[in-house]
Amino acid sequence: MAQEFHVGLDVLTGERPLMAHSPAGVQQPAREAGRTFYIETFGCQMNVHDSEKVAGVLLRRGYRQVNTPDAAALVLYNTCSIREKAAQKVFSRLGQFKAGPDGSKVIGVLGCVAQQEGEQIFERAPWVSLVCGSASYRKLPELLAELEAGNRRVTGLDTDTEETFETEITRRDNPFRAYLTIIEGCDKACAYCVVPFTRGPERSRSSAPVLEEVRQLADVGYSEVQLLGQTVNSYRDPSPRRLSFAELLVAVSEVPGIHRVRFTTSHPRDFHRDIVEAIDSIPALCDHVHLPVQSGSTRILRAMQRTYTREDYLEKLAMIRAARRPISVTSDIIVGFPGETDQDFADTLSLLDLAQYDGVFSFKYSPRPNTPAISMADPIPEEEKGRRLAVLQERQRRIQTARNEALVGQTFEVLVDGQSRKENQWAGRTSSNRVLNFSSPHENLLGHYVQVKVARAGPNSLVGERVM
Ligand code: SAM
Ligand code: SF4
Repeated sequence: MAQEFHVGLDVLTGERPLMAHSPAGVQQPAREAGRTFYIETFGCQMNVHDSEKVAGVLLRRGYRQVNTPDAAALVLYNTCSIREKAAQKVFSRLGQFKAGPDGSKVIGVLGCVAQQEGEQIFERAPWVSLVCGSASYRKLPELLAELEAGNRRVTGLDTDTEETFETEITRRDNPFRAYLTIIEGCDKACAYCVVPFTRGPERSRSSAPVLEEVRQLADVGYSEVQLLGQTVNSYRDPSPRRLSFAELLVAVSEVPGIHRVRFTTSHPRDFHRDIVEAIDSIPALCDHVHLPVQSGSTRILRAMQRTYTREDYLEKLAMIRAARRPISVTSDIIVGFPGETDQDFADTLSLLDLAQYDGVFSFKYSPRPNTPAISMADPIPEEEKGRRLAVLQERQRRIQTARNEALVGQTFEVLVDGQSRKENQWAGRTSSNRVLNFSSPHENLLGHYVQVKVARAGPNSLVGERVM
């Protein structure tokens, strides 16, 4: 069962907030004295948020966050192994410390590559001292204490846990949207996916600490929260309250000060009418659902062990489209899964036409260690995967352009979260998660909600004018 905990927020470090995917600049001034850390994050939103929590644990121990590996005594890479390319990136980052160790820096590998490669990382990069998978983050304080005591190598690689990673302080890097993990791990067994191996079994947090954290976020000024989980809608409240996922959404959106509630990623199998009804009746629940289909062919969905057919998926979609409020739907698609024929691929293209997604993250299938798909017959050549990906992306680009053009003339509320270098240019997100750029002579709109009328549309963003 999840532990009770208290959350402190946004500890000031005296450094600029570290943004995810910040490049590892190594040509920096000399290392600052004291306990300093640098953390670079690869991969999904859950990794980004895990890094915020790891930073919280370190700040609590008296470390200070810095913006370059060169300035840090402790350098951490929070890694992703969902596709091979992502996993390779960390080894290229580690390569820059090959000349070491000079005893002045501790290097750590966290996250999915750490879990997947385990102690082999010490063989490939002997200058690494810490290897810890996400299912063992609750042990981080002990592991850090061992490092501080002079231990040369420490590992946290268990996955057989029922606990979630609770921290006293979470260092949040996004000033406008606060991320909150409500369910960790995954019990689905998609044939291509490393997540069940790298993140361990599904563990939901109790609703009371989730709601307490949301209240604290509202108190420090956040109005938008995003609930996270690999399959967020598989949430099961382990406390006696037994809130369903839809009931939790309602409870979160009722917290005073919370204006927008998002959630990602939803698994089609656990997506039920009560979620649509909640979105329909509560304006604070954003009108966007990320519902990855992965393939439009029932034959391939079976091989992928996705637990639904093309028809089942289209029924869920019809339920979403029947809502009183238009709800934006986005998806993930894999092309070139082993055995995918031209007809299977054509089925995926025809599903795109039927689904009319507002956005798609599309990937070439990447064989991953430990997964059932790695030994499946009939792999698709890389070149053919690339061709299918290009065809799919072009088809989706046209769909998105048409869908966005249909919004010209409509007015949306946006939460302003970006300012362009060009004077008076701002960017914000609609409730449906579309990027809407606009101009306004006002001094500082960051963090404000404003009304913007759409004047032009492209495939990936909208341009408009502020409505006063
Ligand atoms: N849990 C989410 C779900 O079930 O949709 C997403 C998890 S994963 C971090 C994000 C996406 O990566 C997946 O939806 C899938 O499209 C893609 N993905 C996962 N494993 C992959 C693989 N081996 N090759 C290519 N894409 C992959
Ligand atoms: Fe991976 Fe499937 Fe779990 Fe998503 S639901 S994390 S794709 S195993």
